[in-house]
Amino acid sequence: MTRHTHIVVVGAGIVGIAAALWLQRDGLAVTVIDPGPPGSGASSGNAGCFSPSSIVPLSGPGILRQIPGWLLDPQGPLAIRWHYLPRLAPWLLRFIRAGTPARIEHQAAALARLLASTSDDLASLLHGTGAEPLIERRGSLIVYRTEAGWTGAEPGWNLRRRNAVAWEELTPIDLLDLEPALSPGLYRGVLLTGNSHTVDPHALVRRLAEAFLLGGGQLLATRVTSFDVADGRLRSVQTASGTVAASGVVLAAGARSGPLARMLGDRVPLETERGYHLNVGAPPVPLHRPVLSAEDRFVATPMTAGTRLTGTIELAGLASPPDWRRARALLPLGQRLFPGLPAGPGTTWMGHRPSMPDSLPVIGRSSRTPDVVYAFGHGHLGLTGAPTTGRLVADLVQGRTPEIDLSPFGASRFRPSWTPRPGSA
Ligand SMILES: Cc1cc2nc3c(=O)[nH]c(=O)nc-3n(C[C@H](O)[C@H](O)[C@H](O)COP(=O)(O)OP(=O)(O)OC[C@H]3O[C@@H](n4cnc5c(N)ncnc54)[C@H](O)[C@@H]3O)c2cc1C
Repeated sequence: MTRHTHIVVVGAGIVGIAAALWLQRDGLAVTVIDPGPPGSGASSGNAGCFSPSSIVPLSGPGILRQIPGWLLDPQGPLAIRWHYLPRLAPWLLRFIRAGTPARIEHQAAALARLLASTSDDLASLLHGTGAEPLIERRGSLIVYRTEAGWTGAEPGWNLRRRNAVAWEELTPIDLLDLEPALSPGLYRGVLLTGNSHTVDPHALVRRLAEAFLLGGGQLLATRVTSFDVADGRLRSVQTASGTVAASGVVLAAGARSGPLARMLGDRVPLETERGYHLNVGAPPVPLHRPVLSAEDRFVATPMTAGTRLTGTIELAGLASPPDWRRARALLPLGQRLFPGLPAGPGTTWMGHRPSMPDSLPVIGRSSRTPDVVYAFGHGHLGLTGAPTTGRLVADLVQGRTPEIDLSPFGASRFRPSWTPRPGSA
């Protein structure tokens, strides 16, 4: 049975707020601490996709061959700020090492187990919050412009098949039937029937946070600076505005979780993959669901405010200023996919994906005390992973056995002595 009386959740992004709601439903007193308003980090400007089909890890065989071409293309999906390379190098090496066929198989299986109940957990999380109208359950599309792109993607589809992801293959005619806004002349497409999207990710976090407050939760606008742990038990949380007594902590500070985890005994290779969006108007023919362009590596999502074009990976750390050219570079790609897509209003945003080199989040207890549970590092899949992560976090806090094996997600997996359990990553 739980000994907990008061839980502090560090971070009011989608992961922290989801965890806070699940904990509150378990009858616990919960305070969420964040210096900014809910959803002001990566969770506000993302592509809005709940995408349990996205189980293919980012690193893979052949990634080294692709990187130079991407870096040389100013519209390409990857950019590195060279001054940041010395700090990035250890993460990059781990990222490359994570791309062996055996590791990919393990990581994909672990992701598939984590994301398998996304749809049900999202429905449970939203229940009674008033946020349901922000969700559209129409699947999502991946489209291929070329035969080479389609055949090159085969290993990824085989991996999804081995992990029970459901999809329907579409001809160019099927694609236009489903989304008449698309450019004619695409080579092939895939409808991922189990995916869904939100029409406003920021409003979604805000609505869930409002439900949390209505349920008696507290929001504290300050920054967590350290933790008071004695004899292996958590006593309190130190913040920029004073001490908060707590029996348990959920660390969900997104891309800024690394230094806090280090205070709790775990050195984790957390990096930020910066991503951009460009919001433009709706195409002349409405779009119904997110469309991912496989070759150009961006997503177009129909949202309340128009069409959101999202993409790019920029490895430049937390402090460098945004390079808005990367957001604007999404426009010609979007206009190639959707003829007539307007250029305006053209509002831009940059956010910090909290990314682990093996594409798996960190979910589990800290080394220093069982009273701290980690929930960060979801990379490209934080919106998708939040509903289930929140439920698993509540299980750990309450002392219930989680229904999936969490060992692939432990912070200790980065220790040199760690070996995967049979059947896990
Ligand atoms: C361009 C782009 C597109 C994306 N598209 C998708 C998508 O379609 N689907 C998907 O699943 N994912 C997507 N993602 C990824 C997703 O947005 C992130 O994985 C997710 O938002 C991470 O949520 P989080 O709660 O962990 O972090 P955040 O939303 O960043 O929240 C962390 C919070 O912690 C707070 N914090 C930091 N330090 C402290 C501290 N010391 N004390 C207190 N609070 C602190 C921050 O202020 C912040 O509010 C995308 C990301 C980007 C950048």
